[in-house]
Formats: sequence, structure tokens, C-alpha cells
Amino acid sequence: MNAPLVHAPQPTRPEPASAPAGPAREVRREVLGRTPEGRSIEAWVLGGRSAELRIAAIGGQHGDEPWGSEAVRRWWGGRAAGTRAPEADADVGIAAIPSLNPDGAARHTRRNALGNDLNRDHLLLENPETRTLHRFLRAYRPHLVVDVHNYPARRRHLLARGWEIDPDVQVGTPTHPAVRTSLGVPEVEELYSALGTSLARAGYRSGRYTLFRPSGRSRPGTQHVVDARNGIALRYGIPTVLLEGRDPGRGGTESDRERTVTAQQRALEAVEAWARDHRSVLVRGPPIPRREEPVAVDAGWGPGASTPEFVFRRTSSGDRVSVPWPAHRGEVLVRSSVLLPRAYAVRADLVAAHRVLADHGFEGDRDAPGPRALVEVPRTGTSRDRGLLPHAIPPEEFDLDGYVVYSVHQWGGRALAVWLEPSSRYGLARWDLLGETPAPGHRPAVVRVVGGGYPVPPVPPPGLEPGQRRPGAWGEGATPPPFPGRAERPPIVETNLLRFAEPAGAPAP
Ligand SMILES: [Zn+2]
Repeated sequence: MNAPLVHAPQPTRPEPASAPAGPAREVRREVLGRTPEGRSIEAWVLGGRSAELRIAAIGGQHGDEPWGSEAVRRWWGGRAAGTRAPEADADVGIAAIPSLNPDGAARHTRRNALGNDLNRDHLLLENPETRTLHRFLRAYRPHLVVDVHNYPARRRHLLARGWEIDPDVQVGTPTHPAVRTSLGVPEVEELYSALGTSLARAGYRSGRYTLFRPSGRSRPGTQHVVDARNGIALRYGIPTVLLEGRDPGRGGTESDRERTVTAQQRALEAVEAWARDHRSVLVRGPPIPRREEPVAVDAGWGPGASTPEFVFRRTSSGDRVSVPWPAHRGEVLVRSSVLLPRAYAVRADLVAAHRVLADHGFEGDRDAPGPRALVEVPRTGTSRDRGLLPHAIPPEEFDLDGYVVYSVHQWGGRALAVWLEPSSRYGLARWDLLGETPAPGHRPAVVRVVGGGYPVPPVPPPGLEPGQRRPGAWGEGATPPPFPGRAERPPIVETNLLRFAEPAGAPAP
């Protein structure tokens, strides 16, 4: 096992496509990579890595949603030309990837040329487009990412009741409870409020992103960590915003299409303005993982405390009607959580799993120091397990030879729990990338490293240079304290993006 399994991803060389506009404002277009059919994926960048606050917008993950792409182009173009946000200063950088799926755009399909939905590929990174995007995000290190789409307003089961979905723009934020960013609930509420106000002032209607299912249930989108808003937020610990513009549809007029594009452009400008107002919070970057903090690896939706009302448009008259929706599932229920260890060790022969982690930029250490580490063998379970997964087996000494160790104390290291825990609903085990369930005596695919003096690896969170550590950062102390008994563990209710319910079967605090 001499060949390195873990290596740095190879970046494609940027190709400057336009001259810088001036010394203070760096404007460039880069070809980040190529699609399966050889089309270029471009980033348009205004202000470089040195900009204090950096915002990135992604358009066109779905090739049949051209209006969102156009809105991203206009937003960036207006800012680059200086015709928008004239108060813009040099210390705010914006980057646009207007068309992540140009192959799909060329044939007007949701999926890419390989037949894959890119917005379901932010975990395995099986497509060149998503790998290219994530490589760019790690290089540019935005503080906020906006993912721009178009939603179908006319759904058959709603049309049957004489309604179509109304808002010009639906807005969403991450919904998976494992996501931790610098934002708290008040800042996220302010974001929704600021966007709503700004859009209303410009004559557009907005609402929170909601899926209305044929079953009659509705919910704030999905919790898939494989989509961009959850996957990027989880992997990098940065806030994300989903903007879904109303798809003007086949029967839409030129004026309908223009309305969708301008509404989304306005929403992008409003997000940018909100970010400027909250820059001190955003530039703080992702929170450092706390020792033994709980990380949700499975979650679902439950009924909220109240019945929300949604505004629909009557197809007959175009009038608006406000409808109470008692079957709204608006509350996030954490189904199972784990306490974050210091590191995860993954058996070195699981090549495909290491490739996914390398594509995500995670750094692994093949040369674990010393033969003995203190580890736990995660209980192998399924998402049907509920509550905090017990650390059933007491930490034991373990020989890490033949394992690659991934510290959670690297950028976005909390995500490793969701990626690697065998019981994670979206973990690599679900795709069989962690191999078979080991028989007794076999070396397990993944173990949690909880002690044994394992050192902090050299990858700092954003804002810190290599070698720099925050005072009190994890791993600086000597021996970790013993694991608390089950009854002493914290309830899993805190979050930054939504208010979560207690997990079913959680221990009493
Ligand atoms: Zn879409």
C-alpha cells in the first residue's frame, strides 16, 4: 500500500478572458473546467480572493431553467459594469457561475449529458461539473453561496383545485440539521424579511420555498445533503440561499419571462445588500467544531406548531387566494445523531470512498502516529434507528495501520460525520462505498478516533493561514475528557437555521 490514495485534486489552469478593469477592481472570466461534451464551465469573478466579503452565485444546474442563468448573468454584468449597486466597494467580491450545466442547457434538459441531475450530486461528486464547482468554491472561499433555479408554478394536483403557485421568487435556506454556519436564527429570519421587503418594493411577490405534494402534504423543500443548498453549506460551513424563480412555462409570454428574470436579478441584488449589512457575521466563517458536539446524521419532517397559509393564484381569474395548509410538515425532526469524534479512520483499501473525500478536498493522513489509538467502532445501523446512537462499545485501543485518518478539525470537518457514519442517511455507506458490514474479527470500514494523542492536521479553517491555530482550538489539549454517560448528553435542539424539535427518544436533559 505504497501508492497514495489521498492526493490533492488537480486544478485546471484558469484562462483569463478579459483584461482587468483597473487596479482596484479585478474583473475576469475563468474557464474552470469542461463538461462531458467539452463545453467550458466559466466563472465570472469581480474582486479576487483578497476581497473581504465574497459572494458566489450558481446558475443553470438544471439545463431547462434558463431564466435563473440569465438572472445570474445580468446580476454579475450589472455589477461588473458598475451600473448596479454603485455603492459597491472593492472589498466585496462577487463570483458567478452562470451555467454549470451547459450541455443540459444546449439540449434544454434538466440533466447533464451523462443523464445525471447535478443538484443531486453534491455528495459523491460523480460529474465533472460538480467536481469543477467544488474545486472553485474551495479556491475562492465564498462566505455566502446563492443557488439559482426555476420552479414549475403549474402542478397538476393544484390545477385540479383551480390554483397555481404564485410567488415570482421562492427563497430557501439549508434545511439539514447537521449544517452549522456563522448565522443564527435571527440573521436567517432577517434575510427572509429583507428579501421579501426588497422584492415587494420592486413589485414582485416572494415566498418561502415550499414543495406541495400530490398527497396534500407540503414542506420546505428537501433535506437532501446531496443538493447544493444543503451539500455546500454542510461541506464548507457557509450559508447558502436557494432562489427559485417562477418558471414562465410553455404558455408564458415574453413579458412573463422577463418578469421572472428581473425578479431573480432583484433577489440576487437583495441578497448581496443583506450580505453587505451582515458582513461582520459572514466573514467570521464556519464555527470550529466543539469537542463531542452532536451531529445529526438522519432527519425528517414533522408537523409544525401552527398551520401556515400559502398564497395561490386562481387559474380562472388570476386573483390571489390565501389557503391554510394543515398538512404542512414544517418542523425538522432529528432522527439520529452522533457525537463528533476527533477524527474518522477509514480503511485504506476502500479506494472509492477515499476518492470521494479527496474530490471534496478533505485531507487524510496515511501515517497515523504510533500503533495505538483510542477508537470507537460505530454501531452499524440504519436510518430506522432513532435518537442518539449509543457509543455502545467503550473506546478501545486500536492499531490504525492500514487506515487513513481524517481529522474533523479541518475545513468543514463536521461533514465527515454525515459522510462516514455507517448510520448516516446520506453517508457513503448508503452507496456501498464503505464496503460490506464486517464480520467479527474483520477490520471495520470506519472507526471513530476519540483519543490517543492524535495530532491536529495542518488545514486551517478559512481566515487562518496554514500553521495558525485559534486559541483553544480542538486538539490542543492533552487527553480528551471521558465520554459522558448517555443521560448527560446534550439534547439536539440547537441550530443556526431552523428551530428543531427534540429527536424522538432523546434522553431527558
Ligand atoms: Zn432547478
